[in-house]
Amino acid sequence: MTTYDVLVAGAGPAGAATAAYFARQGFHTLMLDRHTFPRDKICGDAVTSGAMEILVGLGMKEAILKAAAEQLFYPIDSIRLLSPKGYQLDTPVNDSHKEVRTYIAPRLHFDNLVYEGALAAGVEFQQGAVQGVVRENGRAAALTVKTAEGTQTIAGRLIIGADGVTSAVARDLRQGQTFTDNHRAIALRAYLTGLDIIPGGVEFYMYDEILPGYAWIFPTAANQVNIGLGMRLDIYRGQKSKTTLNQLLDHFLSLPAIKPRLQPGYTLEGVATWQLNMGSQTNLPYAFDNALLVGDAAGFINPLTGGGIHNALISACLAGEVGTAALKANDTSAAALKRYEKLCYQQLSKDMIRSYRLQYIMLHFPFVIDWLVRRMGANSRFAQTFIAKL
Ligand SMILES: Cc1cc2nc3c(=O)[nH]c(=O)nc-3n(C[C@H](O)[C@H](O)[C@H](O)COP(=O)(O)OP(=O)(O)OC[C@H]3O[C@@H](n4cnc5c(N)ncnc54)[C@H](O)[C@@H]3O)c2cc1C
Repeated sequence: MTTYDVLVAGAGPAGAATAAYFARQGFHTLMLDRHTFPRDKICGDAVTSGAMEILVGLGMKEAILKAAAEQLFYPIDSIRLLSPKGYQLDTPVNDSHKEVRTYIAPRLHFDNLVYEGALAAGVEFQQGAVQGVVRENGRAAALTVKTAEGTQTIAGRLIIGADGVTSAVARDLRQGQTFTDNHRAIALRAYLTGLDIIPGGVEFYMYDEILPGYAWIFPTAANQVNIGLGMRLDIYRGQKSKTTLNQLLDHFLSLPAIKPRLQPGYTLEGVATWQLNMGSQTNLPYAFDNALLVGDAAGFINPLTGGGIHNALISACLAGEVGTAALKANDTSAAALKRYEKLCYQQLSKDMIRSYRLQYIMLHFPFVIDWLVRRMGANSRFAQTFIAKL
């Protein structure tokens, strides 16, 4: 049986970027996913220039520029924020001068780009559904994987759980510890054709029915937008009205700021919901004997914006950095890998704890958001936060 240096469960952005990092360091790396690529992922599709820059560092610049030139990715240069009382703030996105920009990058194309970038870096791929972690002397040693040929056991010196919010690897390694509903969210996204857009502009709507969540309009093309909304799970479940996400979307489409912009015969496609685990809950481990969790499997979604791709890529690089040192030193014990948790805390969690405080303000003192939107200038940090924290 082959023992890979690195075995990555999940080939989404977190898994493919982590696998690419290790392969570029010369490690024999296998990435597993239950789907073949290209595949869709329910998402707002907003990818910051910071996230794109990480991919440039992993050798994917040409592919990003090609996707942008082919108009698969839609560049963003402004943000509109609507506060609970309807105050409006328009502000530029200050990265138009950069080689890679903030884009609305439909996940069908974006994830395939990162996946192909990983293959180009030398990563091997196998389709299969990871079922769990095999332990040897208490250490993660292999994954059981259900493939078309049957169930296999695949061994790795280092195992990376990058299998998203429903991670089988995290479930096994965390032994039942999980996120509480106040650090989870549920969200709906759809593709709407036939809405007058703000060219190059993303829109965030904060209003009472869904606070501290928000609704978004992210253009993917001149006549198509990714539209959706998200709510904190405890608040969604606690609604007396039991309004569903689909009904909330209908309410959003009938708001005075949206309804007049809908063209006759507009269509909604790809309406789907998915869940999010927020990085503001910090009592869960990410580093184990021979294993690390990255991206949504770890739970690195920003509680304010629901953005997780940039954080997934940051965690991929941190896992690559710490994992490379551990593999070279032939010590992949939890003690050696703990540095990953420290770096994640410094570079990700601290910021998400701050975002959770801002979310608390949005929930309990929504007039503060009205005040911020009314009083802050177009270049306010508050407005930029929404893009920067995606
Ligand atoms: C409605 C919605 C809107 C969002 N909008 C944005 C946004 O606009 N911008 C942003 O930055 N973030 C957004 N997010 C968050 C973002 O989608 C995630 O943070 C991001 O996808 C994390 O990447 P990942 O690679 O960790 O996980 P994923 O993208 O979920 O990838 C996980 C991969 O693992 C595979 N997998 C899962 N289980 C198994 C298994 N058992 N065996 C094998 N493979 C498996 C899956 O097929 C998938 O390919 C949104 C999330 C939602 C739900």
